[in-house]
Amino acid sequence: MLQKIKNVPRKKKALLLTLLFTTFIFTAAFFTLSDPQPVTEIISPVLQEVQKTSQLLTCVQRLVKRGDTIINALKREGIDHQTAYKFFTEVKPVYNLRKIGAGKPYALFFSPDKELLKFRYQLEANRYLEVLKNKPANCFKGKLVTVPYDIKKEVIKGEIETSLFESILDCGEKPELADLLASLYEFDIDFNRDLRKKDSFAIVVEKRYLKGRFTSYGKIQAAEFVNKGKAFRVINYTDPDGKNAYYHPDGRSVKKMFLRCPLPFMRVTSGYGNRRHPVLGFSARHNGVDFAAPSGTRVRTTASGTVIEAGYHRGRGKYIRIRHPNRYISNYYHLSRIAKSIRRGVKVEQSQLIGYVGSTGLSTGPHLHYGLRKSGRFINPLRLKSPTKNPVKKKFLSQFKQYAARHFLVISGSRLVNIPKPVQDVLLSPTPATLQPSNPVGLQ
Ligand SMILES: [Zn+2]
Repeated sequence: MLQKIKNVPRKKKALLLTLLFTTFIFTAAFFTLSDPQPVTEIISPVLQEVQKTSQLLTCVQRLVKRGDTIINALKREGIDHQTAYKFFTEVKPVYNLRKIGAGKPYALFFSPDKELLKFRYQLEANRYLEVLKNKPANCFKGKLVTVPYDIKKEVIKGEIETSLFESILDCGEKPELADLLASLYEFDIDFNRDLRKKDSFAIVVEKRYLKGRFTSYGKIQAAEFVNKGKAFRVINYTDPDGKNAYYHPDGRSVKKMFLRCPLPFMRVTSGYGNRRHPVLGFSARHNGVDFAAPSGTRVRTTASGTVIEAGYHRGRGKYIRIRHPNRYISNYYHLSRIAKSIRRGVKVEQSQLIGYVGSTGLSTGPHLHYGLRKSGRFINPLRLKSPTKNPVKKKFLSQFKQYAARHFLVISGSRLVNIPKPVQDVLLSPTPATLQPSNPVGLQ
């Protein structure tokens, strides 16, 4: 794109570059809002150079904090209360920012003299609120923008050679897809430790394109993961009441009371997670399972509950104990650090960050000691049959099963295209004649 500019007189060239840059900074900011890719993947290196030298707009990207208001969010960026309030009321006819949702991304664009000129707040995957400052009229003007994505449903299949992360990359996909997949299976499979060579996966996922270029993943619609010969299938389903969740084909929710592992999925290429570091199995004397992991790895609560201890002990090092419903207690030892808000009496949600892996107390290297007790007795967390909640409602079950059957037919159907390398085929039509719900072929 820059080559075209070569023969333009210098002044015009500068102007063009500025324009180009402005377009790009906005596009880039938008992309980062719409997907978790870093900006660097979107702006070409040349334009990054331009960005460094430019004095145009500064972009600040944030996520809405829990319990936050737009006025407080703006004030934290140095905007005075009056302006923040004016912003809120002038945007209100277009969108009521009182409904600002925790965890959603937004971006602010400031002039060099720190004036807020532009604001973007992501509403849905393909829709955002944009607010522009009209300087002459001194007012904020909001509008809702829909991004004209092309959405393609694709089937991505692969086999584990070394790690899930690497297999996903081998399929030509982005790391985010591995994260998405791992989050679907975090109640059943620990992708850091449970994987074996020749495990396989098939994923039906929506991919969003803008002007022919991939921008981000939508939801995984269905997936099958074969781990040690056992197939785990999950499907996304919205029932007629509008409730959307992931289920197993028999209607059970994928969500369980406990996560399989307190550590998050790690993007490693070496494979088999901790196999190189021998992992002590569970024994009653040892009272838990050791997960070897780099110091600083995030530690999550495996189930919702209340912190009953968070402190230091000579043997356990920095440690946390959490009480859960049904007389369960979970322990997390040898942490390098306990997360800020975690102290006795605090309520925590499943998967919440509580601390970081370390080697404090009696420990020979960075690892997490994770223990679980039920009614006072230690149990093996890896063998736990964790209860599931909220299955598909009975009255929707037969409809759900037909829906699931259709999707898994797509997965098993495309298995016929058996090429040694991972296959990716775009689904052209969603329901050809052979995929009628009355035809149960393909369900195993
Ligand atoms: Zn241990």
